[in-house]
Amino acid sequence: MSENINHGNTELSGTDKKLIKNLIIISGPSGTGKDTIAHALTEKDNSLCISVSATTRPMRANEKEGKDYYFKTEKEFNDLINEDGFIEHACYDGHCYGTLKSDVCRRIDEGKQVILVIEVKGAAAVREKFPGVLSIFILPPDMNTLEKRLRKRATESEESIKKRLAAANDEIMRACEYDYKVVNADLDEAVETVYNIILNRRKEI
Ligand code: ADP
Ligand code: 5GP
Repeated sequence: MSENINHGNTELSGTDKKLIKNLIIISGPSGTGKDTIAHALTEKDNSLCISVSATTRPMRANEKEGKDYYFKTEKEFNDLINEDGFIEHACYDGHCYGTLKSDVCRRIDEGKQVILVIEVKGAAAVREKFPGVLSIFILPPDMNTLEKRLRKRATESEESIKKRLAAANDEIMRACEYDYKVVNADLDEAVETVYNIILNRRKEI
């Protein structure tokens, strides 16, 4: 049992410790720039990659199966829940989203640090399972800018934009649960700030 350590009441296995070291959670309201920042990070540093989640949300015109998400029916998603296929899963804007154990473990076995771009409930579940995992919350400069970005992206219906903006305030209230908060005003600056957080964490572990 030498590879197990006691973390409070929770016994962490070697695999758990590897996940704590190599997972990076990025959350923030829809349209704040999470995906843009995460993609820029993977371009800067090829030891970083983004986990591809499963979702029941319909595919957007610019998305590809297996690249942006694994698109599932409700039944397929429920089967994955029953097979214990998820690290976490949550509902958002009327659809299910989940971090696939298989996708994350494969990437970590390839020596990557894996970015989870996930909403706040899922992030809380990951932090509970893997105490000490790095988590970063991306804030918009202000709510008007958030709305403009979401509308300019032009990927959601008016109804979905309204729901996402309504959810944003509650999500921002939970920013204090994260290790770091980064305002995405200038994109390059935000990417640099997040990258420095990741580099500093690498030095600690
Ligand atoms: P999220 O993943 O948080 O939903 P996206 O990464 O899709 O957000 O970004 C939403 C929109 O805002 C995209 O069109 C993106 O190009 C744009 N965007 C992201 N960051 C900035 C920024 N710093 N300044 C201006 N536009 C931005
Ligand atoms: P979108 O529909 O814009 O792609 O994603 C909606 C929200 O779901 C975003 O906040 C995104 O970060 C989050 N999300 C994407 N994948 C997952 C996941 O696997 N788990 C959880 N909990 N949230 C996710």
